[in-house]
Amino acid sequence: MKAEILSIGTELLMGELTDTNGSWIATQLPPLGIQLQWVSIIGDDLDKLTEAFTRGLERSDVIFTTGGLGPTQDDLTREAVAAALGEAPTVQQEVVDNLEEYFAGRGISMPSHNIKQAHLIPSAQFVRNRNGTAPGWWAEKNGKMIVCMPGPPGEMQPIWHEEVAPRLRELVDEEVTVTRNIKTLGMSEAAIDEEISEFFGHENPYLGIYSKADGIHLRVIARAKDEETARAMIVPVEAAITDRLGQFIWGYDAETPEEAAGQALTDHGLTLATMESASGGFLANSITDISGSTSYYIGGIVATTRGMLLANGVPSRILEENGMASAETAMAMAYVARDSMEADYSIAIAGVIGPEPVDDQPVGQVFVAIAGKRHTRQLQFRTPPRRIVIKRRVSNTALTELRKLIVAEHEAL
Ligand code: ATP
Repeated sequence: MKAEILSIGTELLMGELTDTNGSWIATQLPPLGIQLQWVSIIGDDLDKLTEAFTRGLERSDVIFTTGGLGPTQDDLTREAVAAALGEAPTVQQEVVDNLEEYFAGRGISMPSHNIKQAHLIPSAQFVRNRNGTAPGWWAEKNGKMIVCMPGPPGEMQPIWHEEVAPRLRELVDEEVTVTRNIKTLGMSEAAIDEEISEFFGHENPYLGIYSKADGIHLRVIARAKDEETARAMIVPVEAAITDRLGQFIWGYDAETPEEAAGQALTDHGLTLATMESASGGFLANSITDISGSTSYYIGGIVATTRGMLLANGVPSRILEENGMASAETAMAMAYVARDSMEADYSIAIAGVIGPEPVDDQPVGQVFVAIAGKRHTRQLQFRTPPRRIVIKRRVSNTALTELRKLIVAEHEAL
């Protein structure tokens, strides 16, 4: 089944509102075996909307829309569907009664404009909206479907889960899509491409490669008549990728670096402490985003000045000789954090966040040091010189390195 999404509203076209509905619906379609082909943004303009529906009916089996179902004059989704299907809307008394009841429950009488929301065309049915006044529309004609939902995500998403997805599940007996995300760090996109080149360029299973803040992600997408068959198609591709990129893989699917590191610490009953200068607490923040992190994360020191590094026990000789932004200082910070907090492992991050270079090091140059009881790890690299990018990249890298070290020390015995 081929689908398209129309995100409706002039606010979207003006850039005042981001189309999160379109991307959210896009995530819901693959498990249903529905292939999304187009996503369009259209303003509150009857002619353009009608044109979009007419074109959509020609090229797609189902059109999903959000927005433009309110009671005001610029809410034109219903009118455009009616025009594209060549039908005239009429008022449904039952819905007027429901709306009147809804407003009476709030102690006010129904504004006359809300009558608009009680209109329906012969090919459509209402879709119940428990969280607002605008019911959705589900229209079917000549083997094509149009599903209209209100714009607010808090109304649209419950409607999707309660009304739309169950009906779609009954209708779609075609293919199911299963996705497996394999997350790597430490190898370039080009090197990965070369290593597993024979898996690219196939339609099913499809292999995609994406550069993200936490490394290079590989996405294997398989389509089959049922989930089990699709999963079985992914197995050999995943096995080959694991075989060839094994040591660079740090996680799967929706897993984040902080989850993967937290899991490794938990699995082995280990504790962690941190000390950060350049990343300003971003690492500590990421670690504590994970529920239950207090069971392994003892704490972190954020020391962004020389004075604070000294006050926390980083030897003045090391700072003197190497400066704040150096591998030696990062290592000294890692020892201080590990020993002062009596942790099994520590991570330290130093470097240059900008706007000016420090100790002759350019903005974006970062140093990571990890101190365990038996081994240490050091890493230095350069990220694009934007503060948030620097913080995110260095924290993600530090956490994936920590996980690797723990796995190497505790699992490869
Ligand atoms: P309402 O009855 O609330 O007016 P509606 O269907 O008419 O619903 P719109 O008026 O088009 O929806 O949008 C209402 C609000 O819903 C917007 O101000 C915005 O907050 C949210 N919204 C609309 N479309 C989108 C979208 N594509 N992505 C994210 N949010 C959206």
